[in-house]
Amino acid sequence: MSKAGFLKNPFWVLGCLFLITALFLVFTVDVTATNEAGVREKLPENLGTQWHGEDVLFCQTPSCTRSWLTRDVPLNEDGIRVCPENWQHEPCGGELLTMALGERLVLPKDTVILKKQYIKQSDPENTVFTSVVLSGKDRSSIHRPEVCLDAQGNIIKDSITISIPLENGNTLKAQVLLINKTYSEEYTRYGYYAYFFVGKDRTTHLHIERLLWMSLDRIFRNVSHRWAYISVSGERNPDNTDYVEEIRDVVSKLYPQISLIESQP
Ligand SMILES: [Zn+2]
Repeated sequence: MSKAGFLKNPFWVLGCLFLITALFLVFTVDVTATNEAGVREKLPENLGTQWHGEDVLFCQTPSCTRSWLTRDVPLNEDGIRVCPENWQHEPCGGELLTMALGERLVLPKDTVILKKQYIKQSDPENTVFTSVVLSGKDRSSIHRPEVCLDAQGNIIKDSITISIPLENGNTLKAQVLLINKTYSEEYTRYGYYAYFFVGKDRTTHLHIERLLWMSLDRIFRNVSHRWAYISVSGERNPDNTDYVEEIRDVVSKLYPQISLIESQP
């Protein structure tokens, strides 16, 4: 293409202008980190009439790290809850917090983590675990879920995307990892791990899309909002897909109660 031809082609001219502008903005704009999030900092007590929520506490003693439902740990004489685990008849007595020790050591200090276990009233053996990780100022609180699951000894068998119809007529998408964890030759636990991300005014089930929105917001809107990473996990029967209905049931009741986005999702 001749020089004149190059300049006459609007695609190239616009492309170059876009690139120059984007580079200019990336290096000159002072991004305002705002504290705006798309979710509340509290998980609901109940999800409909079926699911009853219980708070979860984690022992901070490195050699213990057990987790407990708050209702199973009575207050001691000082009016606080400490780890009731007995190690060779020695009480642990470790500090109990709402964040696991590993998370507390790795994540930025201002990360907010909310966790609840929801127990199905018609079948108390059936429980689902929900967590919300809300990023703090430096925005590095949220990692790819696959990395953490691998580190915990899970094998990810498959990854699927499901649609979750909401009461208001909108549809939310979640990514679902199907995981196996083998404890012994006889016992393998089959689980699922569903997740999606919520920004101040949008949702996505894709980690890469969240990163893209964060970059575009920084460049073109001069803001960096707090993103939330929401997960729901439970057990599944490897012979059927009932877990999909369970995820739809839980998320369609959970999300509208925590979302601050006016036109959800
Ligand atoms: Zn302990």
